[in-house]
Amino acid sequence: MKLDILAFGAHPDDVELACAGTLIKSVRQGASVGIVALTHGEMGTRGTPELRAQEFQRAAEIIGARAYRMLDLRDGWLSPTEEAKMAVIKVVREYRPSVVFLPYWEDRHPDHGNASKIVQEAAFLAGLKRIETGQEPFRPAALIYYMCAWPFEPDFVVDISDVIEEKKQAILAYKSQVHNKSYHRNDEEETFISSPQFWEYLMNRSAYFGHLIGKAYGEPFKYKGVLEIKNILDLFKDRVY
Ligand SMILES: [Zn+2]
Repeated sequence: MKLDILAFGAHPDDVELACAGTLIKSVRQGASVGIVALTHGEMGTRGTPELRAQEFQRAAEIIGARAYRMLDLRDGWLSPTEEAKMAVIKVVREYRPSVVFLPYWEDRHPDHGNASKIVQEAAFLAGLKRIETGQEPFRPAALIYYMCAWPFEPDFVVDISDVIEEKKQAILAYKSQVHNKSYHRNDEEETFISSPQFWEYLMNRSAYFGHLIGKAYGEPFKYKGVLEIKNILDLFKDRVY
């Protein structure tokens, strides 16, 4: 299977929280999209690996992903080892994505920074034919970094105003992780992302980045390199200075 976009997260829910809007919008524009979680999220304070797998599948369906997969790397202990990079190399060669989404390279959760390094290095190594996996070598055209907890100055923002409701649904598919009244277990503590404040923060952050491009909601991204513009007028056609 050849995909246009492959989005990697350390844990099930990372991709949805950071860039579900952009993925949903890309699907609507005709792109084929896949989602890969490097771990099963088994270290999470809330939920079980089985429940999180169901939530991951449900979120992928809402996004319209053609492929979704969890790898078996260790949650909480992600590290850019040969084993980790080989696991990602195999996935990159299988789906042959033009564009790879990955976490920004620094974050409060060490897994996010390490996932960034693993995916960035594996995306390059996947193009080396002497690394043998029984697959054709392949290297994606671009790596796009999405925002987790720690902010950065974005290189571009994608307008997600017309898919914000679908993005909320994709995130709410993670019933055990985010705030909602229908999921409650007395033995599970509240976490950073299960609090009502987190939901408000997430929406406010989307509104803030949307505001920067004159839209209601946006998702920020970082790109290592210089982006080429093909059509200046098209880029600014609905902007007001
Ligand atoms: Zn995460």
